[in-house]
Amino acid sequence: MIEQRNSFIQDLLITEKLDALLIFGLPNIRYLTGFTGTDGVLLIRSSESVFLTDSRYLAQAQKQTSVEHIHCYKNKLQALADELGEAGSHRVGFDADIVSVSQFEALAKLTGHIDWCPLSAQLQTLRGVKSAEELVALKSAANLNYQAFAAVLPLIQPGVTEREIALELEFALKRLGGEANAFDFIVASGTRGALPHGVATEKKLFAGELLTIDFGTRVDGYHSDETVTLAIGKVDRKLRQIFDIVLEAHDSALAAIQPDMAICDLDAVARDFINSKGYGDDFGHSLGHGVGLEVHEYPAISSRSEQKLLEGMVITVEPGIYIPGLGGVRIEDTVVVTTGGFEALTKIPKQFKQINI
Ligand code: ZN
Ligand code: ZN
Repeated sequence: MIEQRNSFIQDLLITEKLDALLIFGLPNIRYLTGFTGTDGVLLIRSSESVFLTDSRYLAQAQKQTSVEHIHCYKNKLQALADELGEAGSHRVGFDADIVSVSQFEALAKLTGHIDWCPLSAQLQTLRGVKSAEELVALKSAANLNYQAFAAVLPLIQPGVTEREIALELEFALKRLGGEANAFDFIVASGTRGALPHGVATEKKLFAGELLTIDFGTRVDGYHSDETVTLAIGKVDRKLRQIFDIVLEAHDSALAAIQPDMAICDLDAVARDFINSKGYGDDFGHSLGHGVGLEVHEYPAISSRSEQKLLEGMVITVEPGIYIPGLGGVRIEDTVVVTTGGFEALTKIPKQFKQINI
């Protein structure tokens, strides 16, 4: 198993007094072992680890992981029960945010007397701080966003549909080496901009509208996530005004980033500013989220967070204002927290940009 990542798990075995820990979540399995397949479960003890997978992935697991024992199963839960039974495990932890109630009940029935320890917050921080190697992949993914956006920008004109823009971005990202879309791209124009998650439709762009594009890709398993809002020709004063407010909220939040600050205080920088301009009710979502092997992961950048920002965390800053019947603006960058503040991974310029039509 990957060495310093394993030490986090070994500490968890001690603090939670566990004989064994089961990891069902694929991103955590990938993080701990390097396995990129889509079925398997990792059983970790203080002395050794066992990776169980089905026959489709046996050769891949042997190639990708350095786990001591790799076993093939026909029935995952039965194989796990057998492993736990043979080792006489008494207290066993598992990733409670991943395992379904029915899966857990089936496993508990097969294993008999085990003191189960559901783990949630204890495991959440595992992937929070990124290594130099992870940053390389995150930067590459962000760089593909930059290049793909530059390739697609000339196509953004009145008459083009939102879906065409989403498709062209997808082609460009994949041609440049992106593995998969990070999520369903949001391409929302005109009044549809008021939908924070308005996925691309057949709607055509019109002069005078704002257009919000939220997109990302994946490189070596790591994601990019970035949002730009553009003006299609000249837009009215009110739209320009909300753009300027969101941009200032975004820039002030970035400027406030410091290691060891309370995450809720970072959310407050953007939120308080938008509130002070009278649009507090139109900014309904959190300021951002962690980005890594999952596009949305720990830490949530939210007013409810009780965590601190740490150097090496990769997070988004994405304030927005959404006004039904009028439109919306969101501006998003993905950044890494550094000693002195932050370094932006996403590079598309975010200042007001009016497309010449
Ligand atoms: Zn996004
Ligand atoms: Zn995001």
